[in-house]
Amino acid sequence: MTAPILPGATLGVLGGGQLGRMFTLAARRMGYRVTVFAPEDDTPAGQIAYEEVRAPYEDLDAVRRFASDVAVVTFEFENVPAATAAAAGERAPVRPAGSLLHATQHRRREKQALVAAGVPVVRHAVVETEADLAAAVRTVGTPGILKTAAWGYDGKGQVRIESAAEAEAAWDALGRPSCVVEAVAAFEREISVVGARGLDGSLALYDPFENLHVDHILDLTLSPAELPPPVVADAREIVRTLLEAWEVVGVICVEMFLMPDGDLVVNEVAPRPHNSGHLTIDAHACSQFEQQVRAVCGLPLGSTEALTPAAMANLLGDLWAEDQPDWAAALAVPGVALHLYGKDEPRPGRKMGHLTAVAPTVGDARARVLRARTAAARIPETAGMA
Ligand code: ADP
Ligand code: MG
Repeated sequence: MTAPILPGATLGVLGGGQLGRMFTLAARRMGYRVTVFAPEDDTPAGQIAYEEVRAPYEDLDAVRRFASDVAVVTFEFENVPAATAAAAGERAPVRPAGSLLHATQHRRREKQALVAAGVPVVRHAVVETEADLAAAVRTVGTPGILKTAAWGYDGKGQVRIESAAEAEAAWDALGRPSCVVEAVAAFEREISVVGARGLDGSLALYDPFENLHVDHILDLTLSPAELPPPVVADAREIVRTLLEAWEVVGVICVEMFLMPDGDLVVNEVAPRPHNSGHLTIDAHACSQFEQQVRAVCGLPLGSTEALTPAAMANLLGDLWAEDQPDWAAALAVPGVALHLYGKDEPRPGRKMGHLTAVAPTVGDARARVLRARTAAARIPETAGMA
């Protein structure tokens, strides 16, 4: 049994975004130092970290130097190149392992890893060549979604195909990269489960969250998802299976579609904490970020108990269209907490922060978080009711 990495040690994070920021906040609260490695400076995570190393992920000597100075390396950005994770791994344990990063950053490898673990996935086919494209669309049927295999996020790199005749143009529009074609799932709801596995193989799973997307970007998360108990059990079983099959040490999140017949289908997996788990900071005994700290440090996992119903609303750059949002008005709503990521350029569609609301029921939490976001946007509450 490896000794745990204890507070006072320095933890290394590859990536400087908001997931790294919230990891760093959790780690610092527990008394760790954090060094962030990112190609940019003044990053959301770097602002909170003890030290920020600025270098490209391809600068493997810089990666090795960074890893030499930390007790463990984790990541918050899933497109870190495999060679970067391998170079870090020469000097410090990388948790979760680079192999998980490698599998989940490419949709073909991700689907293969899911199928190999025996979990249900949406009907799909791989496209590498022009010949594959026609065959893939025939196999999968229409309507379908063509998704780039690499670098997709928040719906980027996805084109919907209504008929086989549209396939060629859709592939051209994406620049003819490696893709997967998926059948459009006529899901009833989208849910996610965040789970962790410790160095000793112990597991900790949060109950499912319900996710609502707008323009393919997560907009709202509700906790708990109101689901029949057998669906909750199936969702947890899928995540347990993946954590064990992949021998994860760390936190993952599994996005799933709930089909009208009650079956669950896995959409995709994040090898790290997830936007839908942000409300665990305010609503759960141990947040997904503290859980990541505990898991990668080889500590006992924390309690995933929900202390209260909650709802999370993302704050995109669009909210800044007119002016700085009215935070005082948002914070006047009871039970609301504000999380901003320290980004100074509010571009449309960019995740700038989120609001969480807690309340006695999930319906009340949802109403509160929406009321707070509307107030922040300076939209009179009666607008939209006319
Ligand atoms: P991203 O990496 O952008 O999160 P996803 O594959 O999760 O990519 O797609 C984003 C959203 O688009 C999903 O949460 C879902 O709402 C919708 N979507 C993606 N794939 C499908 C599908 N096969 N059928 C129906 N909806 C889908
Ligand atoms: Mg997704």
